[in-house]
Amino acid sequence: MIRLIFLLIPFLLFGSPLKVIDLKENNGIVSIIFNKNIKSESFKKSKINTGIYYDIVSEYTLTKKTFRLKNKNFITIAQNNKTTTRIVVQSKKIDSLNFKINKNILLLSFEVQKQSNQNKQTQNDIANLFDSVDDKKLAQASNQTKPKNEQKQEETIVLARDNSNRVVVLDPGHGGKDCGAQAGKICEKTITLAIGKLIKKTLESRGYKVYMTRDSDSYISLTDRTKFANNKEADIFVSIHANSLPKTSKSYSVTNGIETYFLSSARSERARKVAEIENKDDIEVMNYFSKLSFLNSINSQRLLASNKLAIDVQHGMLVNARKLYSKTTDGGVREGPFWVLVGALMPSILVEVGYISHKSDLEKLQKKNYQERLAIGIADGIDNYFLKNF
Ligand SMILES: [Zn+2]
Repeated sequence: MIRLIFLLIPFLLFGSPLKVIDLKENNGIVSIIFNKNIKSESFKKSKINTGIYYDIVSEYTLTKKTFRLKNKNFITIAQNNKTTTRIVVQSKKIDSLNFKINKNILLLSFEVQKQSNQNKQTQNDIANLFDSVDDKKLAQASNQTKPKNEQKQEETIVLARDNSNRVVVLDPGHGGKDCGAQAGKICEKTITLAIGKLIKKTLESRGYKVYMTRDSDSYISLTDRTKFANNKEADIFVSIHANSLPKTSKSYSVTNGIETYFLSSARSERARKVAEIENKDDIEVMNYFSKLSFLNSINSQRLLASNKLAIDVQHGMLVNARKLYSKTTDGGVREGPFWVLVGALMPSILVEVGYISHKSDLEKLQKKNYQERLAIGIADGIDNYFLKNF
């Protein structure tokens, strides 16, 4: 019986009529979600005085909805007749409309004036609307984020989208007089800066606005790092570090892998130890009471967002690191009382890209291709975080 049901499910899905099942608007991008995959050919486009509309043979199960976007752009979705859903797009600059299909989702948005090279390219791609929709390219882009052996686990898809008003502050840990963790002549500060620069490059190529707390070997106090992020009105703050165990530790030569932390007052033994090392720089200058009030100021919404960001970034790093080293250890997402994250007013995380106290981690972390993989992984994580939460 169960087997029969399983056999029927694909048939039922395939045979069911096309329906609009949900609508969303995030940051100027309107998503029209269907119950199954759609094709650009299914949309019939017509011009009107104030813009254009698209008709598609599908049921519309929701109430009529108008999205009022910036620059007096309107997108209205409603049932036109029994068999047709109509999407009306009203705009003075209808040429700036982005029309993208990804599987069962139609994404509509308007190009903003201020744009990166990537966005300009997207705009060119879309100038002819339907003719330019390139499902293959999108599929390719989404496949690039999937590891060969983890395709089934990957739930989210990285899309070409407008990130020009998303501000990311990257914070390469330590610098200047502060070497961070040390292994022989190699300082943590050098590795974090190299990776930070690569993340910046990757995110900028995806249209993000990116600032770095330092882009040279200079010393910056922990509090100035978050102040910088607050001044830039960053949407997220990512502090980059490499882990290390004290030589006296029993697991010194064994412990390795990637971890991501988000700020909380939780104090697991492990988080406490890592935080102790990363906090060392400024901890003396903060008196007990200011620490206490800082911890009390942790806002639960920001904590939740930081946790989500941490999960996405950790996943992105692991998936990418494993493309080069399939046995990369997943140290997981953890909470900890990191001062560098305390003053940040936005979701913020601290990544530990590996253990420089571990021989092969240290070797990998100095390789450009591995650093690039980590940068792509962190950027993928950031992409997915914004895709899911905004
Ligand atoms: Zn560090």
